[in-house]
Amino acid sequence: MGLSEQLERLVEEAEEHFVRRCGAAPRWTVAAPGRVNLIGEHTDYNEGYVLPMAIDRYVVMAADRPDGQARAAGGNEARVYSVELDRWATITVEGDVAPGPRGWSSYVQGAVAGCLEKGLRPGPFEAVIHADLPLGGGLSSSAALEVATATLVEAITGQRLDPLEKALLCQEAEHRFAGMPCGIMDQFSSIMGRQGHVMLLDCRALEAELVRMAEADLAVLIANTNVKHELTGGQYSQRRAQCEHAARVLGVRALRDATPAQLEQCRSRLDELHYRRARHVISEIARTVQAAEAIRRGQWDRLGQLMYESHRSLRDDYEVSCGELDLLVELARSIGPEGGVIGSRMTGGGFGGCTVSVVRHSAIDSVTETLYDGYLQEIGIPPTLFATRPAQGARILRPPSD
Ligand code: ADP
Ligand code: MG
Repeated sequence: MGLSEQLERLVEEAEEHFVRRCGAAPRWTVAAPGRVNLIGEHTDYNEGYVLPMAIDRYVVMAADRPDGQARAAGGNEARVYSVELDRWATITVEGDVAPGPRGWSSYVQGAVAGCLEKGLRPGPFEAVIHADLPLGGGLSSSAALEVATATLVEAITGQRLDPLEKALLCQEAEHRFAGMPCGIMDQFSSIMGRQGHVMLLDCRALEAELVRMAEADLAVLIANTNVKHELTGGQYSQRRAQCEHAARVLGVRALRDATPAQLEQCRSRLDELHYRRARHVISEIARTVQAAEAIRRGQWDRLGQLMYESHRSLRDDYEVSCGELDLLVELARSIGPEGGVIGSRMTGGGFGGCTVSVVRHSAIDSVTETLYDGYLQEIGIPPTLFATRPAQGARILRPPSD
């Protein structure tokens, strides 16, 4: 399969870095993409649906066995270097590995530990990590790093993991080694992504349906607000607890099992806040399934409408948006379909991070400019924007599989 220009350049750079740091060309090179969620926000922990796609931005790892001297120094250790952080770290590659102090290499260590548990033993190696995903920008560089690591272990050992098992061990790495209780969407997308497709992922069954985004003229524009509002009081866990409470009152296992009619019937037994939280989740799960259907049928007006409704619901009912996200969505909406914008919404947990917009390819430059100028003028800092399309999941690039 042909690589995009973007990925080709990144791989070339990673391999050059490897030569500079480790003295020879790498024997193995792998890539794992980031992801963006088109719709279905805060639905995963309610056992609902999400609609992510892999994006054409990656964590690349280039690796080889250590040379003789380094090999003698440590038989059960790997050394990994991050170009982005300009840091080396040492990873244990044998035996039962317990989580250590948390840091950037925890993601690598966690994924290696998971592979060891499955019987994949890579032995010592040296690796260079290089990415064109923002670190901490909401496009899941963390999952891409875990998945790249597990893919590298597959390349080294010549053994393959079952894809779902691989996603679960990467998620486990993030839980146990990085201390982040994330859902499965990020790792799943980075592994199962398919060029030209979005994935309707059922977070209860852990099954995904690929939905082809057929129209050649469509691109996905990601706009990073470059802000992260640090809020007190653990907003994420608060929202989770509120959903659990609402589910109990409604008498269902998870909000996934409640219908809008049931919610209205129980309205008097929920206070206003819990009612609104539940209304977001229940309506968002329905929107996500409808959005997949709209994409399948090429009903772009409908997709746009669902994206705007999703944003409104996140802003007003779930209260996880912020002024910067609202502004980017409003700027996109005011361009409208005539200017090439199909739809736009915040994506990710909220309180900063990115918006995702579906845009006509021919309009990418003008839409990018409008969003950039409008945001800079109002907020005073520049947003970061880039266009992408649904990309292929993690791959072994070297040695080539012919
Ligand atoms: P996101 O997944 O949205 O990018 P996270 O906070 O979950 O944000 O993960 C970001 C963290 O992942 C970084 O702070 C770093 O520890 C690790 N990471 C991701 N990419 C790299 C990289 N290229 N080099 C080193 N560490 C990385
Ligand atoms: Mg992450």
